[in-house]
Order: sequence, then C-alpha cells, then structure tokens
Amino acid sequence: MGRGRKPSKELSSRDRKIVEEINSTSVTMPQLAEEFGITKQRIQQILKRARELGYVLKRRKLSRKHHAIDQCDLCRKLLMVANRDELVTKTDLAQMLNVEYRVCGWHLNQLKASGAVSKKFATVRSRGIIKALRFYRKSSLSAYAVGRKFGYKNFSSILKYQKQKGISVERR
Ligand SMILES: [Zn+2]
Repeated sequence: MGRGRKPSKELSSRDRKIVEEINSTSVTMPQLAEEFGITKQRIQQILKRARELGYVLKRRKLSRKHHAIDQCDLCRKLLMVANRDELVTKTDLAQMLNVEYRVCGWHLNQLKASGAVSKKFATVRSRGIIKALRFYRKSSLSAYAVGRKFGYKNFSSILKYQKQKGISVERR
C-alpha cells in the first residue's frame, strides 16, 4: 500500500492555540494574523477546518462585555493563585494553569480591571528575582549579601523598585 498524503485528522498545535485564543479572549483576526505571522484568510481556513473537526468556536460570547469573572473557570483559578502568592511570573502562571500566555494575560487583565486582583500580582518578570526576593524575606542576610548570592549587583535597587510597585519586601 502506498502512503498517500492523508489529511491529518487533528489540528496542529499552532492551530489549536489559535482556536484557544479565539475561544477565550477578545483577540481580533488582524491581531491573530500578526501574532502567528499568517494571513487573515489563513486564519479563516484554520477556523473552518477546526469546525469541521468538531471544535466549538464560541467567539461571540467572549467579548469583554460577555465575559463574567464569576462564571469563568480560568478567572476562578487565577484568583486562587493570586490569593495564595503575588510572587509569580506571568509565564509561570500561564504554565501553572495550562493556558496560553496571551489567554492568561487577557483574563488577568479583566481581573485587575475589576479590582478583584491586585495590580501588583504577577508583575515580577524574572524567576531569578522572585527566588532572591523569597530568600531575602526569610533570611537575615543584608540586601547586598543576598544580591551576591543570587548574582544581582544592584539588589537593593531591585528591592526598592519592587517595594515601590507594592510588592512586599518585609522580612519575617
Ligand atoms: Zn476569565
């Protein structure tokens, strides 16, 4: 038997990302096209194929207006994490909740805009700084010594900056 080119029965992981983003954010077609570096026509084709494969596209429900925080699973999970710990990078947050970075960011922005989640939540960009901050809070070493341990020459200015943003740098 020859191995004819059978069309794949599943969407590629990129195409699934597109469907997920369509279903869970208010992203526009031009934004998607730009994000994935493909044409709007291509996006339309992908969505058509997704529908044929049985994917449900619920785009219309998901405008900002129709998104209800208290009925959104992702927002509920985000709230739980936010109540537990403010020190997390957005990348880790998305991974933790197993959603695309952009999807996670969109819901997080809705929560912040509504005041349900503090604006300072998930604002530290570097995992390394988070580690150093956690250590600093628990340790009795000077800021300088903690900086040296974690490889930050300017750790006291990092502390100052995070404190200005409202991140707690108090020591226990
Ligand atoms: Zn949500």
